[in-house]
Amino acid sequence: MSFSAAQWRGHFPLLAAHPKLHYLDNAATGQLCEAALDAVTSHELQHRANVLRGTYRLAEQADAAYENARRQVAAYLNAAGPEEVVFTAGTTAAINLLAHAFGEGLDAGDEVVLSLAEHHSNFVPWQMLRERRGVALRFLPLAADGRLDLSRLDEFVSQRCKLVAVTHASNVTGAVTDLAPLVAAARAVGARVLVDGAQAVQHGQVDVAALGVDFYAFSGHKAFAPTGVGVLWGRSEALAALPPFLGGGGMIGRVTAGETTWAPPPRRFEAGTPPIAQAVGLGAALDWLRAQPWADMHAHTARLAQRLMDGLAVLPGLTFLGPRDLRQRLPIVSFTLAGIHPHDACQILDGHGVAVRGGHHCAQPLMDCFGVAGAVRASLVPYNDEADVGALLAGLKDAMRKLG
Ligand code: PMP
Repeated sequence: MSFSAAQWRGHFPLLAAHPKLHYLDNAATGQLCEAALDAVTSHELQHRANVLRGTYRLAEQADAAYENARRQVAAYLNAAGPEEVVFTAGTTAAINLLAHAFGEGLDAGDEVVLSLAEHHSNFVPWQMLRERRGVALRFLPLAADGRLDLSRLDEFVSQRCKLVAVTHASNVTGAVTDLAPLVAAARAVGARVLVDGAQAVQHGQVDVAALGVDFYAFSGHKAFAPTGVGVLWGRSEALAALPPFLGGGGMIGRVTAGETTWAPPPRRFEAGTPPIAQAVGLGAALDWLRAQPWADMHAHTARLAQRLMDGLAVLPGLTFLGPRDLRQRLPIVSFTLAGIHPHDACQILDGHGVAVRGGHHCAQPLMDCFGVAGAVRASLVPYNDEADVGALLAGLKDAMRKLG
């Protein structure tokens, strides 16, 4: 299958309806693909019922659709099986689930290793765990370009370490984490590894088996699927060792007035009615993504990111954040403009039909490392094209003229 950005764009109804929009905020949310939209619509029209407890045909069809979505997610992640896929409300919910379920087994003196590049959703839940259980947090430092500095790993991942929780790729710099040494260090001390995959999933299939990690969290909406659904993938034996977080319907074995036993994973972690149609949409989006020509699409987004970075490099007063080598990063491009607040730049850009995000991007510790309060971020996916990059560069020149 050959790739064309214009053709790809045609699979995204919102973009087709807004031909003049230069949507470059994909790191915040990818647009919904028609495969997901069609799957949600047909599910809601034909199979809408609650899952798990129904004995009539419609409910059995809803059950089948929901469990099929689990299989589709497992295939995208190269998981050992669908029972390793826990549906959540998103990455944030998945990490909070783990911070509670895994955190239950930790005590004062135990350590969780994070990095300073984390999104707040892989930062704050662990700080809250520190308050609850007295565990210590260790923060992997960053190199000047925002990549994790893994040169002193053995100082950070000690015998006290029970979990290493790091991002697969930064939502600010796009820097891709070199997970292999982290996994090896964690294995050497018997610690688990959680990866925040929120940014990685929209750039192609993830292979959790090859990564060798224990837990992987992501959100549907970044993978061109509906909002309100996400995934905590966990290796079977790692999930089986955890107690539930939320209690309620669907997660039980047997309830009596005296006590409750738990269902096996993944149900143990899915109390209450799950986001059924959203999960069906997510499964359809991932199946569709799996069939795309990713090598061509990566070449396309890398070319665009390079063109953007070359265009930015000649703008006066512009400071680029992150590694320059596109082999070490996703096509997420963040920068500051001397004397111009990111929000003001974004507003001028909006006048040019360019949607980008400005601010701290929920990564204030990373901003602190760079010594800035915020940045403008443009994030590219395969439906973006030269016109999007051109409009952004033209809009920035205008912003500099007006605000600089
Ligand atoms: N981690 C990273 C790296 C992210 O980019 C995001 C979303 N910006 C999240 C976690 C949180 O995702 P959600 O808001 O969908 O839970």
